[in-house]
Amino acid sequence: MSISVDDLPIRDDLRGLSPYGAPQAPLPVALNVNENTHPVPDDVASDILDAVAVALRDVNRYPDREFTLLRESFAQYLGHGLDSSQIWAGNGSNEVLQHVMQAFGGPGRSVFGFGPTYSMYSLLARGTGARWVAGEREADFTLSAESAAAQVRAADPDIIILCTPNNPTGTLLSLDVVEAVYEASRGIVIVDEAYQEFAPKNAVSALTLLEGRPRLAVSRTMSKAFAFAGARVGYLAASPTFIDALRLVRLPYHLSALTQAAAVAALRNSKVMLSMVDDIVVQRDRISATLEALGYLPHDSASNFVLFGGVSDPKAVWQALFDRGVLVREIGLAGHLRVSAGTEAETTAFLEALASIGSAS
Ligand code: PMP
Repeated sequence: MSISVDDLPIRDDLRGLSPYGAPQAPLPVALNVNENTHPVPDDVASDILDAVAVALRDVNRYPDREFTLLRESFAQYLGHGLDSSQIWAGNGSNEVLQHVMQAFGGPGRSVFGFGPTYSMYSLLARGTGARWVAGEREADFTLSAESAAAQVRAADPDIIILCTPNNPTGTLLSLDVVEAVYEASRGIVIVDEAYQEFAPKNAVSALTLLEGRPRLAVSRTMSKAFAFAGARVGYLAASPTFIDALRLVRLPYHLSALTQAAAVAALRNSKVMLSMVDDIVVQRDRISATLEALGYLPHDSASNFVLFGGVSDPKAVWQALFDRGVLVREIGLAGHLRVSAGTEAETTAFLEALASIGSAS
């Protein structure tokens, strides 16, 4: 007899929920989860391997619980006068966001974000027993400071997550939205800058707003621009007091010695690790221009992916691309699909496959 999760004595607030489930299919062209599809350059890979080999010698001991060297490396990479007391890290920014939700969310509390946005936010919120509340954007997915502040004031949430550039739309938020939301709220404000390295060079980071705002945090990840998704390393910058709150909920030694060694070595090579970013941006813009020429409606993207509308039947097009060896993302938004910018060859494969289907509505 097979039983379902709901037949177990599971928490009432988890009953009926679905887990995060982006398909992991071994297709030749995988452009569905916004990874950097370029491999880590050989020289850097050797450097990382050496660092991991050294760490392995001491793996009989627990790792540095405070991951001091890694925090120093992130502070140095981010700049803006930050020091290690203002840095936190975890196994992916998902874990970092989970720490924030565990410390500031929980039963009876609410987490607010402007939809459509990253699908894990609601799952992370609900995982701690908090309620997820979705605010609204304009039809073109932009958001004004006035509208954002008014919606936040009305909802009065305990945590607000602002994703910029936003997944899945690619939309960049201007910093006046962050400032207005901070002023309009009493809760924690997280700016998720997972894709910041792909934004135009003149796009100012919310890191510049941290000074004097103890409820503000900026999260980042090594999974995207750094081509380090498989290593699982995300991080966050905030006030030292905010970081102390996260220490209350993390598991001791949550970052393995191998992860710490690998990430420190990768950050030592950040220039080389980030060298593909410009090329990915070129491919992203090529995708947008070609989609438009094919009759689709790509949304402006400051990220490494493009959300496009004008798709007559997203499920059917997703399947037709799958059958041609190309994996994109069907995010449940009517008439839309999302595709990550790959290498030049992968991007060409996607564009040619799409052109062969001819499905613009
Ligand atoms: N934030 C956003 C906006 C994302 O799109 C993702 C990954 N898709 C993450 C956070 C989490 O990434 P990771 O856990 O790999 O750092």
